[in-house]
Amino acid sequence: MKTVVITGANRGIGLALVNKFLTEGFMVIGTSRKDQFDQISHPDFHGIVLDVTSSVSIHNAVSLIKEKLLKIDLLINSAGVGLDLNDETPEIDIIKTTFETNVFGLFSFTEAIKDYIVDGGTIFNISSVMGMLNRDKILPNATAYRMSKSALNMYTKTLSARLAERKIKVVSIHPGWVKTDMGGQEADVTPEFCANGIYQLYLKDIPTNSFWAADTQTQLNW
Ligand code: NDP
Repeated sequence: MKTVVITGANRGIGLALVNKFLTEGFMVIGTSRKDQFDQISHPDFHGIVLDVTSSVSIHNAVSLIKEKLLKIDLLINSAGVGLDLNDETPEIDIIKTTFETNVFGLFSFTEAIKDYIVDGGTIFNISSVMGMLNRDKILPNATAYRMSKSALNMYTKTLSARLAERKIKVVSIHPGWVKTDMGGQEADVTPEFCANGIYQLYLKDIPTNSFWAADTQTQLNW
């Protein structure tokens, strides 16, 4: 039985990923800031409390994962915030708070857990096309969010190089525009469609140090 760790598993894309990977026969470790996993009742699911902005919380979560597991096959970093998606005037406090979760928090949790990922395993960082540098037109909104996802993409690249010897694949994924609290109900796809797309990317032989769109199953040019 393969094991996947999914952050931000209590709602949105993370919750849909939990249900998808349980259906596909994985043991699923899902994290949430609150100690409440009422919506998931499955023998192969284990809920763990994690706030990625807290070093104590990261330490406690990794200790619990170490106790429960021998190995992790896949880590999906889905937890994230979009605090300024509708704002065109950037504020330093919002930039700092956004980076605390989307960059520093994701980085700290991944660094703490990476030694428990099997050689040949996989890390999926849920990023966004909003972090792409290689776009003709960048809209003026969401400075903090865009900057955080660009920084995350560079972390994907450096981590991919650092873990190459262990053949751990590190990939950034744009999930699509997804109907969640963050994406809003007018978004293009359901969390379930998105989770299936991410699962299909896991099955494909995609290379490390790459960036993919889960909704279209196409490679992106960072
Ligand atoms: P939601 O807002 O629905 O869910 C966000 C999840 O992240 C929640 O589980 C939330 O927990 C968790 N989270 C937030 N801050 C922290 C933290 N400090 N520590 C631990 N967990 C935290 O967002 P989505 O599901 O839509 O987004 C998931 C990922 O996909 C994000 O990284 C987002 O940037 C990315 N994405 C989403 C798109 C979309 O259209 N929805 C498009 C492109 C990218 P809690 O319930 O406690 O707040």
